[in-house]
Amino acid sequence: MDGTSRIEGATETGGRGSELFDVLLVGAGISGIGAAWYLQSQAPSRSYLILESREGIGGTWDLFRYPGIRSDSDMYTLGFAFKPWLAAKAIADGPSILDYVRETAREHDIDRHIRFSHHVTSASWSSKAALWTVEAERRDSGETVRFTCRWLHMCSGYYDYAGGYVPEFQDMDRFEGRIVHPQFWPEDLDYRGKSVVVIGSGATAVTLVPAMAGDAGHVVMLQRSPTYIVSRPSEDSIAHWLRRRLPPMLAYRLVRWKNVLLQQWFFHLARTRPEKVKTKLLELVREELGPNYDVETHFTPRYNPWQQRLCLVPDSDLFEAIRQGKASVVTGEIERFTEKGLKLTSGAELDADIIVSATGLKLQVLSDVAFTVDGERRNISRSMTYKGMMFSDIPNVSYSFGYTNASWTLKADLTAGYLCRILNHMEAKGCEIAQPHRDPDVEEMPFVDFTSGYFERARDILPKQGATKPWRLHQNYALDMASLKYGTVDDGTLAFGRRAGTARHRVTEAA
Ligand SMILES: Cc1cc2nc3c(=O)[nH]c(=O)nc-3n(C[C@H](O)[C@H](O)[C@H](O)COP(=O)(O)OP(=O)(O)OC[C@H]3O[C@@H](n4cnc5c(N)ncnc54)[C@H](O)[C@@H]3O)c2cc1C
Repeated sequence: MDGTSRIEGATETGGRGSELFDVLLVGAGISGIGAAWYLQSQAPSRSYLILESREGIGGTWDLFRYPGIRSDSDMYTLGFAFKPWLAAKAIADGPSILDYVRETAREHDIDRHIRFSHHVTSASWSSKAALWTVEAERRDSGETVRFTCRWLHMCSGYYDYAGGYVPEFQDMDRFEGRIVHPQFWPEDLDYRGKSVVVIGSGATAVTLVPAMAGDAGHVVMLQRSPTYIVSRPSEDSIAHWLRRRLPPMLAYRLVRWKNVLLQQWFFHLARTRPEKVKTKLLELVREELGPNYDVETHFTPRYNPWQQRLCLVPDSDLFEAIRQGKASVVTGEIERFTEKGLKLTSGAELDADIIVSATGLKLQVLSDVAFTVDGERRNISRSMTYKGMMFSDIPNVSYSFGYTNASWTLKADLTAGYLCRILNHMEAKGCEIAQPHRDPDVEEMPFVDFTSGYFERARDILPKQGATKPWRLHQNYALDMASLKYGTVDDGTLAFGRRAGTARHRVTEAA
């Protein structure tokens, strides 16, 4: 048995032979594998299954294969709370992160709960049955398969796996060299000795430029406008010191908290004293590149620190490539592509053999799965997020969405732990339905207060947050920990009920 219960014959909502699970997880990336661990250890009576579109574990860390692919936050906070990160580097490369996620799944026997090549397309809730019917398309056979579950936890990430964001550049097809998108890096791409232009200056571009600069002839980072870039050591000396003296888990927890607090402090400082932080960040860049470098043009953003995600480079690798003349930064707008490269609106031309469009991700909410509640289509963008892990007026669905200003896993861990608390509460009270009821008096706010292009482009598809608790997204691990780990589950907003139309009964009435 793989911990699943097969319904023989028709179910109340699914077709004949559809399998019933207590919890269906969508996605086997960091969030899905982590959530499976929490279910196994904190809600062990619940059966679960993970449906994964791809053929392997790891999500982001399996998909992205471009040179130098690495984390841009430290692994003591990007790692799971329950599994210490033991490798030497705190800023780790993609393959090591993928190994860590795979190892977690293997060690805890999570692998056998995953069905690969199952792409979830729709989910329909029946209040009568208190069940979700989930449809998935088998990527290997094209067949449509159905599952039923009591709870649906979406761990599908936040962007479109089918393709990244590429602006409409004029005459792209005229370029005679190769155009490459980082989301689908061609294995056969030989850039040795070649002229490369990387368009963009976000996390992907600042990773790619130094990684390619070693072998390429020259790499240009072409940006429309600059990003805040800060260098940190790839290894954490305090972590090494602690690890030599303390048991691994204790050392890991201490470093995790150190990094959480430092990050929170820095974010707070950036939001409250932006000018001071800006001056310091630019001073650090000047120290890296020397007094003659035009930091004003190439490294001074138009926005304040942490209005967009800060770009971290390990061990000054980007600055080193610039210092050595292997890479350079050009700031300007593309007018059009030419046969030989790019023409900028300034009139300047950039010749290239290879152009990499590191222009960002295409945000996607819950993988575009079509949600229906009792036959009525639900539009996620009209709902309000509850504690950053459920949606108003959608029963028995949770989702994993990490922090924008800190490591994703910190929030994913808290969310999965809270999901277990909700499930255990429901079991104890004999309830089958949990649904946050929206308060019309709570003021609506944008889901994220970042000005990054990919959030701006996705404004219309993102849900809303509310101005007050429990609808407010704190982007603060300590506050979320207080609410999700120690706060009461039966908070008066999350309504618990039983099936047959009693969803609106509070648990105290239903129990
Ligand atoms: C290049 C890159 C670097 C990053 N670096 C960092 C970093 O350093 N720190 C940080 O905090 N964050 C970083 N992020 C954000 C990163 O995505 C998260 O850290 C984390 O990996 C997200 O994990 P996840 O499991 O929630 O989502 P993903 O990793 O996106 O995994 C989602 C999984 O769900 C599957 N899936 C999606 N839709 C469906 C469906 N309909 N049916 C079935 N399966 C589905 C996907 O195939 C995938 O396996 C980075 C992102 C990128 C793109």
